[in-house]
Amino acid sequence: MSKHNCSELQVLRSSGQLLLQPLWDRLRTSEALIQSPFFPVLFAIVTYLGFCLPFVVLDFLCPWVPALRRYKIHPDFSPSARQQLLPCLWQTLYQHLVFVFPMTLLYWVRGPALLPPEAPELLQFLRDVLLCLLLFDAEFFAWHVLHHRVPWLYRTFHKVHHQNASPFALATQYMSLWELFSLGFFDLMNITLLRCHPLTVLAFHVLNLWLSVEDHSGYDFPWSTHRLVPFGWYGGVAHHDLHHSQFTCNFAPYFTHWDRILGTLRPAPLPAIILQNFAERFTWEIYWVI
Ligand SMILES: [Zn+2]
Ligand SMILES: [Zn+2]
Repeated sequence: MSKHNCSELQVLRSSGQLLLQPLWDRLRTSEALIQSPFFPVLFAIVTYLGFCLPFVVLDFLCPWVPALRRYKIHPDFSPSARQQLLPCLWQTLYQHLVFVFPMTLLYWVRGPALLPPEAPELLQFLRDVLLCLLLFDAEFFAWHVLHHRVPWLYRTFHKVHHQNASPFALATQYMSLWELFSLGFFDLMNITLLRCHPLTVLAFHVLNLWLSVEDHSGYDFPWSTHRLVPFGWYGGVAHHDLHHSQFTCNFAPYFTHWDRILGTLRPAPLPAIILQNFAERFTWEIYWVI
């Protein structure tokens, strides 16, 4: 490679780094918090509940706002606070405080996270977040198929997550401890294998939490992730909701390629709002023809 090309590459690399550097510098001002033994579990709980909260509010509003029901996959279902929301919330807090926190503490004792002064390059950052997501999707797909195909594994470890046939946001982490730790293990293995920058790790965790909450939210909005990713590559909430009600399809949490390859992909029905728009348009066309 010529000297000219090398310097161009260097400029490109540093401009990519410059984009993330202000954000990383700002985060590093909270270095003491990020390196504290409480940070991983606090970050996980606060981010998770922060993502669940808007959907919980929507579920409370739904009975009084008919327009909202048009975006619900199960328009007549609203989770009850006493029987569904509070047990799910309690289980998440209990598992994180009693089991996840001691595990992260053991990891922290080995040495708190090192925060390098330089931010990652933008392209490397994006590539690593996408790779983490694709690896997690593949690993969870294999785990999920296995835990549905082996009756003992299903009964012992995965059945608890299927207690809610019509999912809602707080049901996302309503799962056995084995399932929670398996997901955590895949997550940790991927970021270690790819040697991700701490900013990449944070971004991946935020994205992964958001996508898993969206998968269980029960709302199919025009801006839901599966409507933004082209060519049906992403299944999202519509596909995962179908998995909760039918059990035998759509095992991958996010993307559709593994289910497509293994023949377990089942398309989700169109949401009420699209069917209604179609019906209205069709009625008008019939009216004009007549
Ligand atoms: Zn399942
Ligand atoms: Zn689920």
